[in-house]
Amino acid sequence: MRFSNMFMATQREIPADAEIPSHQLMLRAGLIRKAASGIYSFMPLGYRTYRKVESVIREEMEEAGAQELIMPALLPAEAYQGSGRWEKFGPEMFRMTDRNGRTFCLGPTHEEPFTEVVRDTVRSYKQLPVTLYQIQHKYRDEKRPRFGIMRSREFVMKDAYSFDCDEEGLGVSYQKMYKAYRRIFDRLGLDYTIVDADTGAMGGSGSQEFMVKSEVGEDGICFCDKCGYAANEEKAGCVTTGADNSEMKPMEKIDTPDVRTIDDLIGYMKCDATAFVKTIIYNIDGRFVAVMCRGDREINETKLGNLYEAVELELASFADVEDITGAAVGFAGPVGLKQKIDIVVDKEVASMRNFIVGACETDRHFRNVNIGRDFAATKIADVRNAVEGDICPKCGEGRLTMARGVEVGHIFKLGTKYSKALNCVYLDKDGKENYMVMGCYGIGVGRTLAAIIEQHHDDNGIIWPAEVAPYKVIVIPTKVNDEVNMALAEKIYAELEESGIDVLIDDRNERPGVKFKDCDLIGIPLRITVGRRAGEGIVEVKARDEADSRELTASEAVAAAKEI
Ligand code: ATP
Ligand code: MG
Repeated sequence: MRFSNMFMATQREIPADAEIPSHQLMLRAGLIRKAASGIYSFMPLGYRTYRKVESVIREEMEEAGAQELIMPALLPAEAYQGSGRWEKFGPEMFRMTDRNGRTFCLGPTHEEPFTEVVRDTVRSYKQLPVTLYQIQHKYRDEKRPRFGIMRSREFVMKDAYSFDCDEEGLGVSYQKMYKAYRRIFDRLGLDYTIVDADTGAMGGSGSQEFMVKSEVGEDGICFCDKCGYAANEEKAGCVTTGADNSEMKPMEKIDTPDVRTIDDLIGYMKCDATAFVKTIIYNIDGRFVAVMCRGDREINETKLGNLYEAVELELASFADVEDITGAAVGFAGPVGLKQKIDIVVDKEVASMRNFIVGACETDRHFRNVNIGRDFAATKIADVRNAVEGDICPKCGEGRLTMARGVEVGHIFKLGTKYSKALNCVYLDKDGKENYMVMGCYGIGVGRTLAAIIEQHHDDNGIIWPAEVAPYKVIVIPTKVNDEVNMALAEKIYAELEESGIDVLIDDRNERPGVKFKDCDLIGIPLRITVGRRAGEGIVEVKARDEADSRELTASEAVAAAKEI
């Protein structure tokens, strides 16, 4: 490819709305273009790398015996109604009505249509197991689309679904996908960990996520320093230790003018956050719930949502909090609520005595509050996030350390959840009907591409791993008007093209500095510069991830390029 012909524009400035390196670099290198919030086009250079990621995934899926097909993205509501997810998806699902009043959605994930296809095709155990996959656009009206294609509203997912006769078969299919996923992310040059994941309220029997370690990751991951346990923070169980058995003191109301936050309280009361219990009011599918956890903890919304099998869960509005507590925001507590609502108490709080809570009165708190005596809990459950130093929920001995990660892949043992809901059965050896046992396996193709950049870049730009680089080699003649210089560059370019190497020649009439900058930005793994010593047949070769260049003869340079 000739740079002068390439449809692209690089950008020097960091785009204002791009917060993380991969998003900034994808825009600066002209790989993607925003069409609307969470909706992007891929430009030719970006689409080349995108297709390389896709082909690594496709190769490994085929290798694992999965068969590719493609389903519509525009789907009738019926299948999702059959599984109950038409309601469950809530506002995240893009829905629409056709001219005849029939309702459709843009598929957010395809368990239902795959289950229907297999149900309508497979009769006998002889046709099982089968694993099908597609690489296709998905649509989710995300609450917070951000970070470019990392969390977008239209994105490409490789989604695979396995169908087996029994749990044992599922185990085998799941393991095949697990191995294929490892090969995929290894080939893509990613540093990742595999963690136990949440299976949701009505979830299947097991689930793991492939997490790319990154500070910009939206997921928290916990590791045990002793037994190797690794889990998503959403899922990691919290172990409560050492119940406080001290004597219950009489509850008293105290004046706390303008003390609305935990920090205010710490300053005012001169004790630490562990003496307080915060009460946060949630709106869970239209029902208000007060949730209590220790002052220094965070409520885990996934655990809370699972407790209520929630579709939509959000913080109650300020106005609702004021109505419910009869006080200004910041003074919520379990005693004296004006409306009767559920009170969910974190397990850890249940082991505390004589704590401080908001008094449901502006500028007042209660001290020496005790569960059971002063208020009743509707539910006591683990609803907080694990934190650094917590005891490992698996071995009970090690301590947890925390890191951040980007979820690029997710594998899930669904069991018979969808086959029961959609009556996906087969006849076994004895002619008896059984439900198929399913698994599902997703990879975000665009998110994976972004994660690769997140782990492979420097201040100057992207550093593509060879497997996904849009072009493996770039030839840069420093003087396009110099016949000798240009002739040698063209010769190298032609030789590389002929040997089937993805090669780019920067034939623009630009200063070398400009060309080097662009070349670093777009991250081409190997640069061959034809400069001063072109007359002698000597060129400079530099790898993108190395600081220094070396001088080689043109034919040595071609040989070096063929090696990557
Ligand atoms: P998240 O928790 O990040 O929203 P999810 O649990 O909803 O992800 P799955 O439903 O398991 O994701 O989807 C499978 C894969 O699709 C994810 O592992 C991720 O790589 C990708 N993915 C999910 N949502 C998005 C999105 N909004 N933008 C880009 N990729 C996504
Ligand atoms: Mg999601």
